[in-house]
Amino acid sequence: MKYVSTRGNAPVLSFDDVLLAGLARDGGLYVPQTWPQFSADDIRAMRGLSYAEIAIRVMTPFVEGCMTRDELATLVHDTYARFTHPAVAPLKQLDANQWVLELFHGPTIAFKDYALQLVGRLFDHVLTKRGQRVTIVGATSGDTGSAAIEACRDRGSIDIVILHPHNRTSAVQRKQMTTVLSDNVRNVAVEGTFDDCQDMVKALFNDHDFRDTYNLSAVNSINWARVMAQIVYYFASAVAVGAPDVSMTFSVPTGNFGNVFAGFCARQMGLPIEKLVVGSNSNDILTRFFEKGVMEADGVVPTLSPSMDIQVSSNFERLVFHYLGNDGKAVGQLMEEFRATGRMDMPQGAYGAMRELFEGHRYDDDQTLAVMKSTQAKTGEVLDPHSAIGVAAGVKGHVNKASPLVALATAHPAKFPDAVEKATGSRPPLPAHMADLFDRPERFDVLPNDLGAVRDYVAAFAKRGRA
Ligand SMILES: *Cc1c(COP(=O)(O)O)cnc(C)c1O
Repeated sequence: MKYVSTRGNAPVLSFDDVLLAGLARDGGLYVPQTWPQFSADDIRAMRGLSYAEIAIRVMTPFVEGCMTRDELATLVHDTYARFTHPAVAPLKQLDANQWVLELFHGPTIAFKDYALQLVGRLFDHVLTKRGQRVTIVGATSGDTGSAAIEACRDRGSIDIVILHPHNRTSAVQRKQMTTVLSDNVRNVAVEGTFDDCQDMVKALFNDHDFRDTYNLSAVNSINWARVMAQIVYYFASAVAVGAPDVSMTFSVPTGNFGNVFAGFCARQMGLPIEKLVVGSNSNDILTRFFEKGVMEADGVVPTLSPSMDIQVSSNFERLVFHYLGNDGKAVGQLMEEFRATGRMDMPQGAYGAMRELFEGHRYDDDQTLAVMKSTQAKTGEVLDPHSAIGVAAGVKGHVNKASPLVALATAHPAKFPDAVEKATGSRPPLPAHMADLFDRPERFDVLPNDLGAVRDYVAAFAKRGRA
C-alpha cells in the first residue's frame, strides 16, 4: 500500500514512512492511494471473531509491503490483550436498534487508547528495525497527554516528554500522567498556560537543528496510523449488530474529525454505512459547516467536553480531498484560503455529496447535562459529556429505524466526574485498574515558562537515552 498527500505535492510513501512522518512535506495529510475492499462475504466472515482478529483483517492491507501479517498480528494481540473488557469495545443497548459502543476500556479510559496503544508499538517496531530512536514531545491541557504517555512508556526506541500547565489540570488528569514512572517518560509542569506549552512545543519543532539532533516526533491526531486503527471498531461493532445484511448509522462526538473520518474510511472499504452523524459542543464549526457548506473559524469557548473544544478540525482535510476528486491542487488552494481568511466555501457539488452521508448537531453544556441525566434515568447508562453529545446527536439523526444506530462513547464517565456528578447527583467510581490512582507516587518536574529551560531539559533527557 502506498500513501499520497492531500496537497498532491509530496513524495508517495510507504506505510512505515507515513507512520514516522506525520504531516506530509507539502503541508498535507497522508491518505491511502486506494481503499482496500471488503466484500459482503468478507464482512460476514468476521462474525464471531475477536476484536484482535478483526483488527488484523482490517489493517493488514494498509501495512502491506512494510510488515508481514504475522508481525502485525503480534503487535495487535499484545495491544488489545491489555484492555480491561474481554470484548475490548463492548456494545450496550439503549433502545430499540440503538446502541452505545464503549471505547473506554483501555489504560487511560478514553477512546484514544484504541489507536495510540497500537501506534506506540508500531513506532517501536519500525524504529527498532531501522536502529533509530525518536524523542516524542507534546503539550496537553490534561485530557490527551496520558494516552500518549501510556502508549510510549517502556518502549525501547522512544523517549517521551509531555508538557502540561502547572496546577491547571484536574487531579485525575495529572495523576494519569505523572504516576507513570517509566525511565523513558518525563512530565514537565510549565508555570504557564496550555497555550504557552503548545507554543514551546511548536518552537522546538520549528528549530530544525534541534529537531534533527534529537529526532523529534509526534503522535498527534493527523497521524494516518491512528485513523487506521480506529477503522477497526466500526467494522467490529457493525458486524455485531448485523452488517453486512443491514446498513448502519454511526454517531460520533467530534473534535479533530479523526474518529468520524475513520468511519468514512470503513465505508470506503465496503462497510454499509448510510449515515455519519457528527456531534458538536458549543464549538460547533463542523455542525455549522454541514448546515451551510461554509467552514468559518470562530473563537474557542471552554465547555464540559474539553476534548472537543477545537477551532479547526485538522483531519477534515482528508474528507475534502476525497470530495474534490483527489485533486491535491484544489485542496491546497482551499486550505490556503481558509488559513488566510478563516473561511472556506466548499464547491456546491462536493458539499451536496457530503450531505448525503454526513450531518451535524450541536449541544451546549446545559443540553449535555440534560442528556446525561435522562439517559441514566431511562437506561442506567452513565455517559461522560463527550459521549452524551454523541448519543444525543445520533438519536436525532436516527430517522431510519431499520438501520441500527451505534453511538460512540469516547470516555469513561469517571474521567469527567464533576460533570457526571452535576448531571446525575452521584460521582462515578474509577474502574478497578485505576482505583488506587490517588495512592500511586508521582513524578514531574516544574519548569519556568521559558523556552530555553524547556529546550535544555529535553536535550538533557534525550541525550541520556542515547548514552
Ligand atoms: C479526542 C476526543 C474526542 C474527539 O475525537 P476526534 O477524533 O478529535 O474527533 C472526543 N471525545 C473524547 C473523550 C476525546 O478524547
